[in-house]
Amino acid sequence: MSERRQTIVIGGGHNGLIAATLLARAGDRVVLLEGRDHLGGLAASEEFHPGYRTAGIDPDTTCFRPWVAEKLELSRHGLEFDGEETPIFSPAAAEDGRGLVLWRDPERARPELGDDAEAYARYRAFLERLAPFARRALDRVPVDLTEKKLADLWTLGRTAVGLRMLGRRDMMELFRVGPMCVADWLREWFSTDALNATLAAPAVFGGFTGPWSPGTNANLLLHESFTAPGVRGGAPALVAALEAAARAAGVEIRTGAPVGRIEIEDRAVRGVKLDGGETLAADRIAAACCPKHVLLDLVPGELLTLRLEHGITHFRTRGTTARIHLALTGFPAFACRPELTPARVRIAEGIDALERSFDPVKYRSYGSEPALEIHVPTLASPDLAPAGHHVLSIGVHYVPYELDGGWSEESRAALLETVLARLESYAPGIRSLVVGSETLTPADLERRYGLTGGQIHHGEHGLDQLFVRPTPECARYATPIDGLYLCGGGSYPGGGITGAPGALGAARML
Ligand SMILES: Cc1cc2nc3c(=O)[nH]c(=O)nc-3n(C[C@H](O)[C@H](O)[C@H](O)COP(=O)(O)OP(=O)(O)OC[C@H]3O[C@@H](n4cnc5c(N)ncnc54)[C@H](O)[C@@H]3O)c2cc1C
Repeated sequence: MSERRQTIVIGGGHNGLIAATLLARAGDRVVLLEGRDHLGGLAASEEFHPGYRTAGIDPDTTCFRPWVAEKLELSRHGLEFDGEETPIFSPAAAEDGRGLVLWRDPERARPELGDDAEAYARYRAFLERLAPFARRALDRVPVDLTEKKLADLWTLGRTAVGLRMLGRRDMMELFRVGPMCVADWLREWFSTDALNATLAAPAVFGGFTGPWSPGTNANLLLHESFTAPGVRGGAPALVAALEAAARAAGVEIRTGAPVGRIEIEDRAVRGVKLDGGETLAADRIAAACCPKHVLLDLVPGELLTLRLEHGITHFRTRGTTARIHLALTGFPAFACRPELTPARVRIAEGIDALERSFDPVKYRSYGSEPALEIHVPTLASPDLAPAGHHVLSIGVHYVPYELDGGWSEESRAALLETVLARLESYAPGIRSLVVGSETLTPADLERRYGLTGGQIHHGEHGLDQLFVRPTPECARYATPIDGLYLCGGGSYPGGGITGAPGALGAARML
């Protein structure tokens, strides 16, 4: 009987867990090594103040792929999707209008949208027609355009047919609008600036782009094509189901096991060396952490070709997101609609305000009115805080990785103060509810979570880095080093709690 192949997965984020499970189910002996003392990566729940926990540093599971859940049979391990969408509330500044509660469903959104309601229904209908094509064409291992393999040509042909099946008008519209900036496209549809900013935000948050940056509309189209109701119980419930599936498949899981080096001989992987000095042998390695960390820190430099070294060095990983967690003794009342208890809040008054919040980051600074993306996970999971208390998980956009003058306790406190002042103008009195907080700058995100440059997606989602990711040599998960594969958010189709890079990377390995 032949020996089972020994595979090591580096990184116990959701993508690492998925890859490990699929490889173990296919017959490999799999050891998963996670550097931190718990699994889940950016999806893991953590205590940030005594008695208060996050639902993941990224609590957003609305892009997690149902096909990945099915492939791993996660329902057998307790995973369920929410029955309905969570709307996004964009408040108006205190006593300045009603703000906007935005549902994806155009009928539910109608009462909020005034003159833009009809256009919104047409906008959603266009995206609905696009989504099945995007899901079919994009959630697959990228085709190899450099070889004339029959399977790749067949896939290309099917994609072309799928595109044509959109119909002449939608196909031409897709070609026209894909490379646009998100601001221009949304202004073609809507006259309400707050609506435009609310829709544009996911296309630019996390990137080194503002709404007027070219190519950002591709991000919006992708985001809209894959967004659906999230996982019930949020990211922690997803991590629990993934861990259960991995253990059931026989994956050996080791936490507190940071990999310090990948051992390579004759341009093929032989194993890994942990920071503590222990070595483990492997026939192949799936690295589900940042590709720059893998190729520049873990692989001995002299083993990279000049081309690969150049490509990975210039893979852009500029972090622009800070995370602030607030522990609150109650739910904050938004002055424009105090009766609401929204689970998701987005603060960006309009396209220009969003662009203005981006501008200073280019010069290693941040503005006095940053755009905010807020989750309140305690509404769905009250056990994250004491009874009646709440957790606010706030993405602050845009905040530089390298702040002029450097990050220190003082500059961290100043950032928190900026965000509290901004919140206070929407939810007066919120300060009096705060009993604890945690401020994580992009530099902190790098230190704690191993995110190169503090880049939340393991690599920016610029148009040039979306489809060829992270470099041309590694764009299909394999690297030029025999047996070394990449399968985290820095690989196609990118960051987010989607499960796609982990599942597609494993498919490529198999
Ligand atoms: C604040 C924040 C907000 C975000 N918001 C959004 C959003 O709104 N929308 C969106 O699409 N995406 C968002 N993201 C991005 C998204 O969370 C990530 O792209 C995704 O979670 C990546 O998952 P992963 O499994 O690939 O990697 P990770 O979750 O990063 O896991 C990688 C794991 O590898 C481990 N590791 C690293 N190096 C080593 C080593 N040498 N040895 C052993 N283990 C190692 C790490 O400890 C970590 O556990 C956000 C991220 C952050 C930080």
